[in-house]
Amino acid sequence: MRFDVLTLFPEIFASYLGQSLLAKAIEGDLVEVHPHDMRKWANDKHNRVDDRPFGGGAGMVIRAEPVVECVEAVQCEGVQPGRLIMLTPQGRRLDQRLVEELSQEKRLLLLCGRYEGFDQRVSDLLEPEEISLGDYVLNGGEVAAMAIIDAVIRLIPGVLGDETSSVDDSFSSGNRLLEFPQYTRPRVYRGLAAPDVLLSGDHAQIAAWRKKQSIERTQRRRADLLDRQGESEDE
Ligand code: SAM
Repeated sequence: MRFDVLTLFPEIFASYLGQSLLAKAIEGDLVEVHPHDMRKWANDKHNRVDDRPFGGGAGMVIRAEPVVECVEAVQCEGVQPGRLIMLTPQGRRLDQRLVEELSQEKRLLLLCGRYEGFDQRVSDLLEPEEISLGDYVLNGGEVAAMAIIDAVIRLIPGVLGDETSSVDDSFSSGNRLLEFPQYTRPRVYRGLAAPDVLLSGDHAQIAAWRKKQSIERTQRRRADLLDRQGESEDE
């Protein structure tokens, strides 16, 4: 899968790309991530990509021309154009269902804003899908782009060591609930023992215990997910 990240700060991605699962996925040719500096498409001599907002007010707005031209040029790279996503607090909120949908794509273009965001004509002309990380305002879209890449690559076959390990994750297609509690060695730590059933070797009992824990935990913390169970059964 290919990700193109369109940003004013491509250097933010330098160390991120060299870390952990993502680095291995890139090394194993499962994932490509290409940061692009939108400043290269600025057409004035100072490479300015932002300007004061018409109508006045605080902050700067990212101009439409460099963004539109950068997107058009990047779409022509690679074997096929990608699904264009603009990161914005005003977009559809990212959740695991959307992550699963995105993981089916061959290519995503992630458009990262800064300052007061983009000139409206970027959306009017390119009609990107607008996605938000949540109801709060970040300084830039780069963290949101990294969150999408991080969540999506977990679902690409071969990226996780154990193919089944994302299925029981919280919110995932396995059951759309919160995951059950996990334990590892030592068996007893500061007087707290891991549940005996997990050491019983009885797989049916372990599965039943985990299912019960998952439901109880979801009930306590996120009852709204149980209310949506009908929707998962329809999938
Ligand atoms: N003035 C904009 C507004 O109120 O909607 C917020 C601009 S924000 C300071 C700058 C950039 O950060 C945005 O263009 C967007 O790319 C990114 N950003 C901020 N919050 C975000 C969120 N919750 N989800 C995704 N991207 C976000």
